[in-house]
Amino acid sequence: MASSFRAFLVNDLFGDPALYVALPWERRALLFDLGDIGSVSAGHLLKLTDVFVSHAHLDHFVGFDHLLRVLLGRPKGLRLYGPPGFIGHVEGKLHGYRWNLVEGYTLTLDVHEVHPDRVLRARFACPEGFVRRDDPTPRPFDGVILDEAQFQVRTVHLDHRIPCLAFALEETVHLNVDKAALATLGLPVGPWLIDLKRAVRAGAPDDHPIRIAASEEGKRSERVLPLGDLRRDLIRASPGQKVVYVTDAVNSPENMEKIVKLARGADLFYCEAAYPERERDRALARYHLTAGQAGRLAARAQVRRLAVFHFSPKYRNCPGDLLDEAMAAFRDGWTGQANGY
Ligand SMILES: [Zn+2]
Ligand SMILES: [Zn+2]
Repeated sequence: MASSFRAFLVNDLFGDPALYVALPWERRALLFDLGDIGSVSAGHLLKLTDVFVSHAHLDHFVGFDHLLRVLLGRPKGLRLYGPPGFIGHVEGKLHGYRWNLVEGYTLTLDVHEVHPDRVLRARFACPEGFVRRDDPTPRPFDGVILDEAQFQVRTVHLDHRIPCLAFALEETVHLNVDKAALATLGLPVGPWLIDLKRAVRAGAPDDHPIRIAASEEGKRSERVLPLGDLRRDLIRASPGQKVVYVTDAVNSPENMEKIVKLARGADLFYCEAAYPERERDRALARYHLTAGQAGRLAARAQVRRLAVFHFSPKYRNCPGDLLDEAMAAFRDGWTGQANGY
């Protein structure tokens, strides 16, 4: 299936967690966890609109300062989401600096702190020296923390000895362009197709004009066609894509149930695999998952693809062991289910 979300881990499998997800139809991006993001270009970081932080351990949140530095002075806002206590963590970071001489900077951070029953919100605006402004009316939490026409982000609280959020990003509907129909109509491939998909997703009316720019032998031309005709002739809709991100959770029955439910049927399941199975006691003591547990979770949730990450640096000389173990457990779990075990 063609992919709408373009997801990639910012660091290697031993590096800090940070999953960058581009939404090409929007020319924007999301980030899951905010570990070291020094290798990400400013251009990529400037596309971020929403950053989801699983918990405030150093390796998941140390990238905040870098992101702030890149965004500061740009006329845009950023939304951040995190577990209980998160607004205080952001406030503490911001108050580590002096904020005079920032006149003219407009950056605003809207911080969402997700509790099991409600979402608290606070705003930090650069022109005010990033003073905390609490929203006095918390919003009830029903599992969804970001709800847009094109996609939703759901979250659950996992036990990592502290609350830790896991996330599911689900596309509402997947839109494909029928390439054969495009050729039949003599229309060019180009960025206008992104505008077309965006207009369809936004539910624009049939007479909404779509500009189709083409350039042939150095000559530029432009046609304008109504959205309704293009939608009927070119757009094929199918069920949306689902990407799930799980890290830093102890192997408890409650966590396992929540993860399987969240990840059910995902196209792509990112799951931590901090330790090998032979070290499961160590994993338990440190509230992390093993590679085998990640593989079994992926099989139980019947995901299409598993991507493990967040390996303990202790195994830097044998990453293949953790990968093999996770994939073997994933495969065996699928086979077991197929055989009715
Ligand atoms: Zn942690
Ligand atoms: Zn961690």
